[in-house]
Amino acid sequence: MSGSRYRQALSQTTNALFGKRMIIAKSQKDLEKMRAVGELIAEVREALRAMVAPGVTTVELNARAEKMMRDAGSIPTFIGYKPRGMVPFPYAICASANDAIVHGFSNATPLKEGDIISLDMACTLEGFVGDTAITVPVGAVSDEAAQLIRVTEECLELGIAECWPNKRVGDIGWAIQQHAEKYGYGIVRDYTGHGIGRSMHEAPQIPNYGRQGTREKIRAGYCFAIEPMLNLGTAETRTLDDKWTVVTADGMLSAHAEHTIAVTPEGPEILTLTREQKRGRGDVRSESVAA
Ligand code: MG
Repeated sequence: MSGSRYRQALSQTTNALFGKRMIIAKSQKDLEKMRAVGELIAEVREALRAMVAPGVTTVELNARAEKMMRDAGSIPTFIGYKPRGMVPFPYAICASANDAIVHGFSNATPLKEGDIISLDMACTLEGFVGDTAITVPVGAVSDEAAQLIRVTEECLELGIAECWPNKRVGDIGWAIQQHAEKYGYGIVRDYTGHGIGRSMHEAPQIPNYGRQGTREKIRAGYCFAIEPMLNLGTAETRTLDDKWTVVTADGMLSAHAEHTIAVTPEGPEILTLTREQKRGRGDVRSESVAA
């Protein structure tokens, strides 16, 4: 789930007064727990990806996700999540179809061929949170929809590749922005990636745009949720009457991709991969010893 620029600005002001807005570096023991929850939520994500097809509803996807999370002994982090001034979020996943960007409610409308559906999910295991999102094509989709999804995933990888000690948070946004802008996509600015750990939203905010060498210095032990949200048209957003679902102001398609990562002395480690995916990438160092 993405952070809101406005809510985070408010809490940053509050926290600055009380000195609480520190970026929390994780210990090795914390990182083991982040790996375990990361692998778990990645398994949920892949199960949902495999379920997506014409005729499937997002309440079915939500039910499957919630069951998998609870069966594994974790808590669906989104259910009851309530930023100040908001109504509690009612579902285990955010399901945002087509022009919906993020924070969509699950519903009983069957997905149809040509739709794209963003599925964002998080769970809490032994006190630590893993947060991940994908956008999945429903059957065959238009070339422009397929490209939007592909470029959003490429932006995620490029952002992650910046997560080395001594680089800056602005480098992440810069890498995402320079790639997205080659395609003329609108980069959502109202919602951002974020630090993550014992809380879903920790410092820092991680915008999907920025300048190299600016913002906070990145250090080993930091954990980030990086989540580009790209629109075919305008970057401007609008929130529906349910108070949560964020859609594009012009009704054009939007895609979203998210991983939780850890910064290590050897560079970024993607926590929200399944064991199979880690092996596929040759990244066995990061397999959880738990589970
Ligand atoms: Mg998030």
